[in-house]
Amino acid sequence: MKIAMIGTGYVGLVSGVCLSDFGHNVVCVDSDARKIALLRTGKVPIYEPGLDDLMVRNVEAGRLSFSDDLNAAVNGAAAVFIAVGTPTRRGDGHADLTYVTAAAKEIAAALTDYAVVVTKSTVPVGTNRMVKQVITESNPGAEFDVASNPEFLREGAAIDDFMRPDRIVVGVQNQRAAEVMNDIYRPLYLRDFPILNTDLESAEMIKYAANAFLATKITFINEIAALCERTGADIKFVSQGMGLDGRIGSKFLHAGPGFGGSCFPKDTRALARIGQEFGLPMQITETVIKVNEELRRRMVGKVMDMLDGHVAGKTIAVLGVTFKPNTDDMRESPSLTVIPALIGAGAKVRVVDPQGQREGVDLLPGVHWFADAYKAAKNADALVILTEWNEFRALDLKRLAKRMAYPALADLRNIYSARDARRAGFSRYVSVGRADYT
Ligand code: NAD
Repeated sequence: MKIAMIGTGYVGLVSGVCLSDFGHNVVCVDSDARKIALLRTGKVPIYEPGLDDLMVRNVEAGRLSFSDDLNAAVNGAAAVFIAVGTPTRRGDGHADLTYVTAAAKEIAAALTDYAVVVTKSTVPVGTNRMVKQVITESNPGAEFDVASNPEFLREGAAIDDFMRPDRIVVGVQNQRAAEVMNDIYRPLYLRDFPILNTDLESAEMIKYAANAFLATKITFINEIAALCERTGADIKFVSQGMGLDGRIGSKFLHAGPGFGGSCFPKDTRALARIGQEFGLPMQITETVIKVNEELRRRMVGKVMDMLDGHVAGKTIAVLGVTFKPNTDDMRESPSLTVIPALIGAGAKVRVVDPQGQREGVDLLPGVHWFADAYKAAKNADALVILTEWNEFRALDLKRLAKRMAYPALADLRNIYSARDARRAGFSRYVSVGRADYT
């Protein structure tokens, strides 16, 4: 089966590569000519573990190619996936559908034979119908159906998530489109990964509801963590004790500096906006957005308090700037709140991140990049852990403390404990939702 994938970002590229690995013939298209040129040389423009090998293998097998010619890619394709960005629209929190609409228009002009136009981007309820209308208006003779197929992969574990999904959600309007979608995902449901067939609106809603629920779970535990700090409880025990309840589950119960990334912030804003548009405010989601923003500001306060408010002129080494480990994605990362605030207060900020520098150079002006934690810690007045990359999980705390001008550690991912830090010689240690010492 020939498939065209429009958009080669974190979702489009992973989906295109994985679908080609299923045996389909996939052409990935992007309007960014530099991305396509890079991909054609066998290089992956993003950091996603395992993606480069899988990509090269499928290119060599002749099932995967990259093109900036959308017409040729769509010509003869049984399915055309839209995997372009849907960032927050300036001003009102709504998902910006400019890229989706533009892609739909281009696809409309390129359609020759029957195809299913599949929206994989996260889009508000009603968007698939809008896509259908755009294509029909642009090319009244086009023979096509639309399908909503939201993506649930996590950056950093994207290939495994795509290849072993909890479920595949497919919203369609008729059997013909359902059959094409079933053919695409047959390798997965043969291995017992469930396909949930729904209408268009439900599929669109599932994605926002799932992301808002996860964002709520994270925010809930973060709020409980704040209360633990006041009451003397330890969030690690509380999370464990809650997570062992099968009805609750242990995932997304780790307290930290607040959610960020390319999805939760924009998707919660979009859901809140959808609620407003339909006259039914999403009060829980709106509160989650507010609490998360406050929480991120509180993290700045934590670091400042650790230094008794005297940040000006201090050297602070920050470990991790990407919004989570195993990705180079910086979108709405907590580091983008914490670091500028520290610089604004007069600190000199050093930064270490295994993959964040390429994106971070522009987003974090004024920081100094270091190759590893030990180099960054030399003569520093504080160390702040913002992202739990593996290489920050087993640091030699003693060695770090010795190198610092003043050994203070803000462990905003709760990797270590007050006991570890004290033993290693840190004079101050703060974390999230647990006993600190300052
Ligand atoms: P991205 O910004 O990394 O990639 C989007 C790509 O689309 C870019 O390369 C851009 O150049 C390209 N593009 C835009 N308009 C185009 C056009 N008309 N023709 C061809 N290419 C075009 O975005 P992403 O992170 O991959 O997200 C894509 C969608 O998937 C979003 O709706 C997002 O909410 C959703 N999603 C993302 C994730 C994630 O973890 N990143 C997970 C699930 C769902």
